Amino acid sequence: MSCERTLKDSLAYLKNKGVRITPQRHAILEYMVQSMAHPTADEIYKALEERFPNMSVATVYNNLRAFIDAGLVKELKFGDASSRFDYWKDDHYHIICSECGLMIDFDYDICVDVEKAAAEFSGFEITNHRLEFYGTCPECQVKKELKHVN
Ligand code: ZN
Ligand code: MN
Repeated sequence: MSCERTLKDSLAYLKNKGVRITPQRHAILEYMVQSMAHPTADEIYKALEERFPNMSVATVYNNLRAFIDAGLVKELKFGDASSRFDYWKDDHYHIICSECGLMIDFDYDICVDVEKAAAEFSGFEITNHRLEFYGTCPECQVKKELKHVN
């Protein structure tokens, strides 16, 4: 996507916001830029624990919190399940696999019209909205079919 930030852009952005870049923060950011996934704090921790033996899941979470406060990362909450963290780009939606948890980005401008419709319908001043799609990803579809055959 055009509005995607590179690691270099993000570091400049954080510096500009006065956020201190520690080696851990650098590594977390790098992981988020490269993975393009929507990791949980635990997944980030597992990916980096070898490099940072003193780091805990709580430290990861605190560092993510600093990115969230700076407006670079968004926390996606799912009821009782662990939050996932989205490396910030423009407003977008998510398509989530109910089998394996894969979450992919989905940009679709028409959703702005839905906000307008909601405002007209309710008289509310709409500030934001959430929209998620659930289903089975292509890989899990294949796995399901294979199970069927065997
Ligand atoms: Zn899947
Ligand atoms: Mn996303």
